[in-house]
Amino acid sequence: MTRLVRLPAGGCRHFVSGRCLYEEALNPGYQTSYRCTVVLELHGLYDGFLTRAEAFGLSESTAADLWERRFLELCRQDAGCQDRQPGDMNAFPGCAHCLGDVCVLRLPSCDGRCRNFSPQPRD
Ligand code: SF4
Ligand code: SF4
Repeated sequence: MTRLVRLPAGGCRHFVSGRCLYEEALNPGYQTSYRCTVVLELHGLYDGFLTRAEAFGLSESTAADLWERRFLELCRQDAGCQDRQPGDMNAFPGCAHCLGDVCVLRLPSCDGRCRNFSPQPRD
């Protein structure tokens, strides 16, 4: 039996650290399973905070101050993800695997050049 060996996909515009961003590029935000769980949790906390702020009738500036303090507190706490690797500390959650709100570790792996291969654009 002949075994097909795929060409390396390092030059593909969708290739990120051995993973494939193709589906995400096609439908940004559609696959919830690709999201960083820590960022998802933050969104949930923020939604809950907004609901409470509205229920208490807080002004916009008071709510913004409170949220900023809460957010700084969260940044100091353990992110709660065992796969987190320290990365860009200017972007929450400061993880090297985070690409916006996508966790690179949750993307499908790239097994070599496929029909969706698309070369990196030239500068
Ligand atoms: S490894 Fe990083 S990007 Fe992935 S879920 Fe954990 S904190 Fe988020
Ligand atoms: S070659 Fe195919 S599987 Fe690999 S990164 Fe590109 S699009 Fe994704």
